[in-house]
Amino acid sequence: MNVRENLRQINEQINEACKRAGRNPDDVSVVAVTKYVSIERAQEAKEAGILHFGENRDQGLLEKQASITDESINWHFIGSLQTRKVKSVIQTIDYLHSLDRISLANEIEKRVDHTVRCFVQVNTSLEESKHGLQSEDVIPFVKQLADFKKIEIAGLMTMAPFTDDHTVIRNCFKTLKNLQKEVKHLNQVNAPCQHLSMGMSNDFEIAIEEGATFVRIGSSLVGNETGGA
Ligand SMILES: *Cc1c(COP(=O)(O)O)cnc(C)c1O
Repeated sequence: MNVRENLRQINEQINEACKRAGRNPDDVSVVAVTKYVSIERAQEAKEAGILHFGENRDQGLLEKQASITDESINWHFIGSLQTRKVKSVIQTIDYLHSLDRISLANEIEKRVDHTVRCFVQVNTSLEESKHGLQSEDVIPFVKQLADFKKIEIAGLMTMAPFTDDHTVIRNCFKTLKNLQKEVKHLNQVNAPCQHLSMGMSNDFEIAIEEGATFVRIGSSLVGNETGGA
């Protein structure tokens, strides 16, 4: 399938999910996750009108950025970021979806000359394999960042477990939404926390029903050249 056709289908699903939830589809942005696909395929996504691109490795990010030079594109780093890689990626991205420790925040504070919009990654599924803070650690973590000048907490991010059980998935997203309310109540200057980054190819409709403002979609949008959909 070409990306344009996939996007048309996804936008239809987004509109339906918004209708069910009484939300405005303009408040939901699609981040095209291009980590499994070629530069050509990513360019096809750009031509289809995608404005947000997500990569989870520094090399993939830099390769895609070198070939898609449009100023209007927003770059999202969605993978876990090693402290030693901060220097090479942080200046080039618009959003970091994986802020999960103070040592990473310290490195960002030291390395950038602009404010980085960050999502605090939360492990809402309690799976050992998932990255992110435990829910109960989120508020103390945000407070610890109060004096960081280069970090804006633009939102929270989570990944639901890979399961057919919609209740389990939905509960992860509800947990993130509740945490967002708590962060907003702090009224912390650098933590407007207006966004929720949640929902992937197989669960973005549930995420939108629960308040997602960024959905990160890879396989069902651009495909998976490593062998999946
Ligand atoms: C790969 C990835 C996605 C996209 O996954 P799909 O299931 O292919 O849509 C979204 N978010 C993160 C953090 C990822 O690593």
